[in-house]
Amino acid sequence: MSAGADPGPIGVLDLQGGVQEHLDHLRRIGVAARPVKRATELVGLAGLIIPGGESTCLARLLHIFDLDTAIRTAHGQGLPLWGTCAGAILLAHENVGETPCLDLIDIAVSRNAFGSQLDSFNCEVAVPAVAATPIPLTFIRAPKIVRAGAGVRVLLSLEDYIAAAEDDQVLVTVFHPELTPSLAFHRYFARKCGLSVNAADVDPDWTPQSWMRGGAAP
Ligand code: GLN
Repeated sequence: MSAGADPGPIGVLDLQGGVQEHLDHLRRIGVAARPVKRATELVGLAGLIIPGGESTCLARLLHIFDLDTAIRTAHGQGLPLWGTCAGAILLAHENVGETPCLDLIDIAVSRNAFGSQLDSFNCEVAVPAVAATPIPLTFIRAPKIVRAGAGVRVLLSLEDYIAAAEDDQVLVTVFHPELTPSLAFHRYFARKCGLSVNAADVDPDWTPQSWMRGGAAP
């Protein structure tokens, strides 16, 4: 990219899962955002979010649409990536007992490690690298990150697992910031993509239904 060139929007992989919620959060921090369904739509992005959903389904769709190869190539050319929950599973080097998918960050994940959908939960914790105030976290049939390699920085460790980590080009969170009023992780990722963003930690206008209105105020 030449100096002063438009850095481009952040894309959200739009095959299955929590796409609109991420697009809504990106718009709330003032970042251009668009859904990505095809490999050609990876061109010109500042970064790409792989949302939560169902990782087996997402892995199959990535393969059917040749997006697995295209994302690996774009990442090799410098595209920053953020995987939330199922997205983190897809980005992991190791998926315990299963075949890894994209293998783009040196972590091991254990799928559904908290139990069934009924064992989903919310909590609030401090993540000093990301926000000045505690962040609400939503875990939905989440994986645990059970190992982080030497080049991986742990952003949040809880009990016996890692909940958020990154290397220079990939961010992974096992929870869903896009389902809370917190903008902190989206701001953090936008900065990782080279965008200058001055959004607040929290958007008081956000509601769980906001994404249905395309980001309009309630
Ligand atoms: N349990 C899902 C999986 O293993 C992930 C759930 C989510 O993304 N919230 O793919």
